[in-house]
Amino acid sequence: MNLKDIYNEVSRLNGINVYDLIEKLDLHVIENPNFENRKLYSSILFDQKIIFIQPELEEEFKQFLLWHEIGHYLLHHSEGYSFNFYMSRFKSKTEMEANLFAFFAMMIGETAENINILDAAIHKGIPEQIAIKVCDLSQSVLQL
Ligand SMILES: [Zn+2]
Repeated sequence: MNLKDIYNEVSRLNGINVYDLIEKLDLHVIENPNFENRKLYSSILFDQKIIFIQPELEEEFKQFLLWHEIGHYLLHHSEGYSFNFYMSRFKSKTEMEANLFAFFAMMIGETAENINILDAAIHKGIPEQIAIKVCDLSQSVLQL
């Protein structure tokens, strides 16, 4: 899957709000108390259409994780049954694809002029180390 494919997948969503998309896809979000004090922030189970997410996260970071898991759901159906989000594993191929999906979804309404994309991405809730990587990878696509 290349960058343009991921961007096109996001474009097809027409700027829909993440919660409306979750409803439209008939996904269920469960704040899982078992995640507390662990390094697992969120996960998705394709068959059950469930996203588990840590409770009491900041709203912006929560939305990033939801977009990330939806990214797996829309991009990776043939590549597994479930995915887990660990901050330490963000560089694997499927994790980076889901991060790029989330980044495009969260940044698609932004104009590239007069803003620093990296600052904006971090402000929107994308963890800094992930934001640095996706900004670097996605520069060519954002200039379309
Ligand atoms: Zn993931």
